[in-house]
Amino acid sequence: MLSGVFDGDVGPRSSCAMEVLEARRQSIASGRWRFLNQSHGNGVVVLSPEEPCFGREGDALVTTLPGAPVVVFAADCALVGLASPQGVVAAAHVGWRSLLAGVLEATAMTMRSEGAAQLVAVLGPCIGPECYEFGESDLEPLEARYGPSVRSKTAEGRPALDLRAGVLRALEALSVSISSDEAQCTACRPGWFSWRARNDTGRHCLVVAGER
Ligand SMILES: [Zn+2]
Repeated sequence: MLSGVFDGDVGPRSSCAMEVLEARRQSIASGRWRFLNQSHGNGVVVLSPEEPCFGREGDALVTTLPGAPVVVFAADCALVGLASPQGVVAAAHVGWRSLLAGVLEATAMTMRSEGAAQLVAVLGPCIGPECYEFGESDLEPLEARYGPSVRSKTAEGRPALDLRAGVLRALEALSVSISSDEAQCTACRPGWFSWRARNDTGRHCLVVAGER
């Protein structure tokens, strides 16, 4: 399940009262939400039955617990949900640093070690290249790892990162099939939070849960 601006700010820094925030979250997906202190790295946490997760650092959560919602938040970074017929699911927060650090590779490896065979992905929205001017020195290592499709141009013709292209390239190399792709730019399309475009402190989210 994907939330947007119209669902309100559901992120960990939401300023609204706890009961309001909880009601908002439960209207998107019921159950005890588990999420991490996202740190733009490649940390993967496997959710055990009593793991509350709060306070743990990482950018991807993997679980085999039926129906347990794992959640990632963003305001421009890519959100990737992963599932397998074997009941292993994951949610990953993928900004450019996490992509380069290999968070998707680490998540897929962890899922396979938990018993996943085939992997299927759902992609949330993320900032598009037309709105994502990017420094040459930061583009180079990403291009070296994921190929020329990550290099793009902004609407004004400056160097830009195509984050979605990098995510798709990483998933393809991991033999992950894409079941849906919310191919929208968070910065210039309505309905999403954007740090880059508006300094939004709010967050939309992607919730993934295995079948109960
Ligand atoms: Zn845009």
